[in-house]
Amino acid sequence: MSRGKPYFSGLTKTQLTQAIRDELKRFAFREEFESPLITGLIAEKHYYCSKRGIKPTRFRMLFRPGAAYDFEGFFPEHGWHKVSWNQCIRPRDEYDWIKMALRYAIKPIIAKYKALHPVCEKCGAHSEHVDHVAPEFDEIATQAISLLDEKLLEEAFARFNWWSEEQFSLPDSNPAVQYILAAHKTAELRAVCQPCHVKSSSERRYA
Ligand SMILES: [Zn+2]
Repeated sequence: MSRGKPYFSGLTKTQLTQAIRDELKRFAFREEFESPLITGLIAEKHYYCSKRGIKPTRFRMLFRPGAAYDFEGFFPEHGWHKVSWNQCIRPRDEYDWIKMALRYAIKPIIAKYKALHPVCEKCGAHSEHVDHVAPEFDEIATQAISLLDEKLLEEAFARFNWWSEEQFSLPDSNPAVQYILAAHKTAELRAVCQPCHVKSSSERRYA
């Protein structure tokens, strides 16, 4: 028995996730298919589509190395566009969006650090990630986001264009971006391999 309240089409979030996964298993990459369940879910729950009254009529999964797949919907007015069924079930909130934009803003700093440290600073293996040692990224991000008032948040989301393939970002002049860039002048970073990355994030979680 699955616990929880029905969320959509009489199913709980867990049941719905499973039903969609089971449905998707029947299709190959690039195969186009219709799904009344996913179309209905997007029409009713997707943060952008539900507000604009638009919905995709068919779908396809595209292979993406390093991830399960890209999920695209066909919108009669626009053509194919990436759309996340998962975010209809577990929506990002404003805070998550801004945090993602802040990660994006520091990408060049992280990339540069990684290029200068090709070797894991804990064990000497090939480095794959850059960890924030002190302060942690979440801590810096929380401080940065606290600088945004209603007006700045509104401005940030007014820039958002769902149809663009570009990542949601904030302008360099945004105070949260300025804060996060400045904080990285002194933040302690560490290049790590995948196993050391997993180990240090679980250590932090249970610290
Ligand atoms: Zn390592």
